[in-house]
Amino acid sequence: MAQNSGVAARPDTEVLAAFEAATGFMPVDEGLALYAAAAEAAARTGLPLLEIGTYCGRSAVLLAAAAREAGTVALTVDHHRGSEEQQPGWEYHDAALVDPEVGRMDTLPRFRRTLHAAGLEDHVIALVGRSPQVAAVWGTPVGLVFIDGGHTDEHATGDYEGWVPHLAGDGLLVIHDVFPDPADGGQAPYRVYLRALAEGFHEVSVTGSLRVLRRSAG
Ligand code: SAH
Ligand code: MG
Repeated sequence: MAQNSGVAARPDTEVLAAFEAATGFMPVDEGLALYAAAAEAAARTGLPLLEIGTYCGRSAVLLAAAAREAGTVALTVDHHRGSEEQQPGWEYHDAALVDPEVGRMDTLPRFRRTLHAAGLEDHVIALVGRSPQVAAVWGTPVGLVFIDGGHTDEHATGDYEGWVPHLAGDGLLVIHDVFPDPADGGQAPYRVYLRALAEGFHEVSVTGSLRVLRRSAG
C-alpha cells in the first residue's frame, strides 16, 4: 500500500479547480488538509470515506478524488434542505438554492452539477436523508468520518454518535468548524471534538477550524 511517504497527498489541479469553483464553506487550506486525511485513510483502510454535510459538493469533490485514487468510494449524507443558519432570513442563506416549487432549500441539483463538472460522479454515493436515520441503518465500516453537518448540539452530537461506531479502528475522524473561542463561531462542533478526545481519539493535525483525529492505540 502506498502510504506514509512523509509528504501529504495533494489533489491534482483539475480536482483543486473543481473544488475552488464549487459553492460551499471550505477554504483552500482546510480543503488540502481534508484531502490529505482522506487520501491517507483510504490508502490505509481501503474503506469508503463518509461525509455528513454534502451541501453543494465542495468538500465532497475532495473526498471523491481521494476515494478514486485508492479505488474506493465517497459516501455523503445530507437531507439537502439546509442547516438552520442557511434558511431564509439567516446569515448563510443563498436564495439561489431555494426550489421555487417547493419553497424550501434544495442543494441536491447544485451538488450533482458540481460532481459532474469535476468528472467524479462515479466515485460518490449520495445518501439523501437525515444523518441519524441513515446512520441507524448503515451496516459497513468506513475509513473516514467527516463531520460537517448541522451546527446545533443536537445535530453535531447525532452525527458523532451515529457514525463513529461505523469508523474502522485505524480510520480517521475529521471535524469541521471547531472554534475553541466562542467569538469565532458556534461551539457544538468544538464540544464534539472535546468529547472525541475524551473518548479515545487524539489529534493528528489542525488546519484552521479543521481537526483530524485518530483513535489512540490500546
Ligand atoms: N461540506 C459542505 C458544507 C456543509 S453545510 C462544504 O464543503 O461546503 C451543512 C450541510 O449539512 C447542509 O447542507 C445541511 O442540509 C446539512 N445538514 C444539517 N443537518 C443535517 C442532518 N441532521 N442530516 C443531514 N444533513 C444535515
Ligand atoms: Mg463546515
